[in-house]
Parts: sequence; structure tokens; C-alpha cells
Amino acid sequence: MITCPKCGFRDHVEGAGFCQNCGQQIGKNYCVNLKCPKGPNADIPDSALYCPYCGEKSYFSNIGIYPEFGVFLEE
Ligand SMILES: [Zn+2]
Ligand SMILES: [Zn+2]
Repeated sequence: MITCPKCGFRDHVEGAGFCQNCGQQIGKNYCVNLKCPKGPNADIPDSALYCPYCGEKSYFSNIGIYPEFGVFLEE
């Protein structure tokens, strides 16, 4: 189940690349530090605003998305 990181919309169509509710690109959160010990584009939790492995800002944090709706805590 993909949850929009911006508005929390959940009922996306199969293969959706963008949120139909707010237009935000849908994707996984990752570490933007290419020298991260976990490797470039390291997989980190969607709720992470900073990389737990190197402390760099996460992708979501970088583009101004914050999990303010707490949608990441459900699942
Ligand atoms: Zn959305
Ligand atoms: Zn990192």
C-alpha cells in the first residue's frame, strides 16, 4: 500500500507515479548522501527526516515533505 508522503492519500490506482489528490510524486524515501555508509540512495524508513546511518537529510526532508499526519506510523 502506497501512502502519499504529503497528504496521506492511500487509494492510488495501480502503478500510480503521482498522488491523484495533491500531485506529489510517490516514491520511497532514501538517503541523499552519495557517500552514505549504506551506499548511494540508501533505503531508509519513510518516516525518517534524516538518515539513520549517516545523519544526512532524507529525500522527503529535502523536498519539504514532513510526515505531519502521522500516516507512516500506521501500516
Ligand atoms: Zn498526496
Ligand atoms: Zn545516509
